[in-house]
Amino acid sequence: MTSRPIAMVLHGGAGILAKKAYDREIAHLRGLAELGKQMLWDGATALDVVETVVYELEVSGLYVAGKGSSPNSDNRYELDAAIMDGNTRNAGAVAAMEGFVSPVRAARKVMETTPHVMLAGWGANRLAERENLEAVDDPGAYYVPAAVPDGRAYATGTVGCVALDREGHLAAATSTGGTLNKTPGRVGDCPLVGSGTWADQDVAISCTGQGEFFIRSLAAGTAAARIRYLHESPDEAARWALKDVKRLGGDGGIIAVGRDGRVAHPFNSEGMKCAVLHADGRIFAGVQELT
Ligand code: ASP
Repeated sequence: MTSRPIAMVLHGGAGILAKKAYDREIAHLRGLAELGKQMLWDGATALDVVETVVYELEVSGLYVAGKGSSPNSDNRYELDAAIMDGNTRNAGAVAAMEGFVSPVRAARKVMETTPHVMLAGWGANRLAERENLEAVDDPGAYYVPAAVPDGRAYATGTVGCVALDREGHLAAATSTGGTLNKTPGRVGDCPLVGSGTWADQDVAISCTGQGEFFIRSLAAGTAAARIRYLHESPDEAARWALKDVKRLGGDGGIIAVGRDGRVAHPFNSEGMKCAVLHADGRIFAGVQELT
């Protein structure tokens, strides 16, 4: 048995509604932290853990990803996701994908069955079909848009997970329905490696918030570079990246885990739903709110 630490963080998005009770989401996030803990403890790879956890978040219908996704302005559901293996720096992503239950599973298929990093639109759909991934035959019946905040232009509730396994390998995955009423064809930060999702040998990162700002600040990649070159902690680097997002006019949250098991989950939006498995085995689950 190895004494190397395991750790994990998952999020259910940086958007919270002031009057909503999040008991179900918190219980769900806690359950997934327990699941991830068990998997990691049993020797699962970080890559398998982040895919499994994000899949469960997608199919729950509790977040703005997978089943809970919000429609675009044509009332269609175009979903984005990415997964990245920090050990090999392999990555896979799908953008503006329609008609499948699990964008994160499709992203992993892109990574493992094609020479590419990202497939968009019908190309992503065709791959998912070829790989026999679970289809959504009746979008009107399947999707249950999870959050439509009063008076806000954007509903944010992307999901993501970062993990450190017993081999010392890191992985990250992020999945989203994007922002409410988005323009057809709009792609956010989640599937863009280095913007909303990143993993290398030092850190795994998943972001949530208004994607355009995370793309323009290269949020995840910048935080990773600060860790690598400036030797910042995951928390310091993630906070710096969020400040840069803020400078551009956006807000959101970032989850990260470092190769030594240190975790971070800062946010500068109104709040962020998340759960944390600390390296000492403690689990936290809750809605963090700005005080
Ligand atoms: N980052 C996502 C996007 O812009 C939204 C979110 O985090 O909820 O597509």
